[in-house]
Amino acid sequence: MKHPTRSAPPIAQVPPRKQQAELQRQLVIERDRAIRLREDLEHARKDLAALYAAAARAGLAGTSDFDGRRTIPTAVQELDLGPYFEQVQANYLPFANPFHHYQQLVGQLESNSRVTLVPCCELMTGESSGVHVSLRHDIDADPVTAIRMARFLASRGICGSFYLLHTAIYYGRMFGTLFVRHRELPRWVEALIVAGAEIGLHNDALGAHNLLGVDGPHAMAQEITWLRELGAQVKGTVGHNSAPVYAAENSEVFSGRILWDQSDPIRRRLPLGALSESALGLSYEGTFASPRRSVDSQAASRFAADLAHADIRNPEWMRTYLTDNPCCDWSVDLQLWVVGQEHWVAGGRFGRDAYFRDRLALADLPSVIADMPDRSRCVIVLHPEYFRA
Ligand SMILES: [Zn+2]
Repeated sequence: MKHPTRSAPPIAQVPPRKQQAELQRQLVIERDRAIRLREDLEHARKDLAALYAAAARAGLAGTSDFDGRRTIPTAVQELDLGPYFEQVQANYLPFANPFHHYQQLVGQLESNSRVTLVPCCELMTGESSGVHVSLRHDIDADPVTAIRMARFLASRGICGSFYLLHTAIYYGRMFGTLFVRHRELPRWVEALIVAGAEIGLHNDALGAHNLLGVDGPHAMAQEITWLRELGAQVKGTVGHNSAPVYAAENSEVFSGRILWDQSDPIRRRLPLGALSESALGLSYEGTFASPRRSVDSQAASRFAADLAHADIRNPEWMRTYLTDNPCCDWSVDLQLWVVGQEHWVAGGRFGRDAYFRDRLALADLPSVIADMPDRSRCVIVLHPEYFRA
């Protein structure tokens, strides 16, 4: 086979000699400064570790919170995610499935002749017959299992979609007014890129606005830029949480995605409609929530205020959320969520017909695919934390 001839690479513009010398000088200074800073940091870490070891030997309580419980300084926690992952393990243990359940799910989908697996960025565009299915991974807490999933998909030649939550502890922390990304984060992003995964941001602009007290939409836009600088081709975001958490969906930070009226006193204060997806180079929003043709704003506000019942393991609430959501329509036909140990929920609408099934086991999922009409679209919502047992 004849190889195409390559055109010669463009010749880089060489700056004038004086400018070169100046750049060289600045480079030497900056390199020196970086080396010194790294040494200072290493010393500070060792001093701190020695101080804590000495305090522990002396039986000192160390620092404690207002209730007298021992605490570790935030800076130490930031450097060590061990306690964080212990917490994740404890929190999700009652809900987590063994990893091979994920492998079995993928195996089922792969062997189903009706299913075409596509990343979320292609879910709404594919036109072939059968059913289009996307594996959406919302990384709320566990990037390590997420990478394991992406690597498994890579071994099967499948592209899944993975969304990093910029307000999660694993992602970064605020130190005063400074946002510091966790030092492992670039490595995790690179691992997802190498696995050929679609990478996007799990949008928590409203969380950043409410909880971190920063300009949430701006913070989110910054993280999209940062992910792209690392080489991720970010095409979309997925809103984190549901409306009852913030009285709005996170997807509503985008203009054109506001779901119901903003005269409500809480919603009025939120930065809804603040960002433009096209200006950020985004082509889709992966919750697939879309404004209802006619919205009963009172019903929407009531549903969004009902935090007491908002629970993905509450079948009544989940049924309303997926099939009769007063806040939004869904542009996908079906959503399939894993919500616990051998516990799946399927809900959506095929045309006018509501479809909802709770308490499904992995073995029931092929019957859900069989129920889907030709040319329907399904997003499978997976939180990696639920496959870490
Ligand atoms: Zn989430």
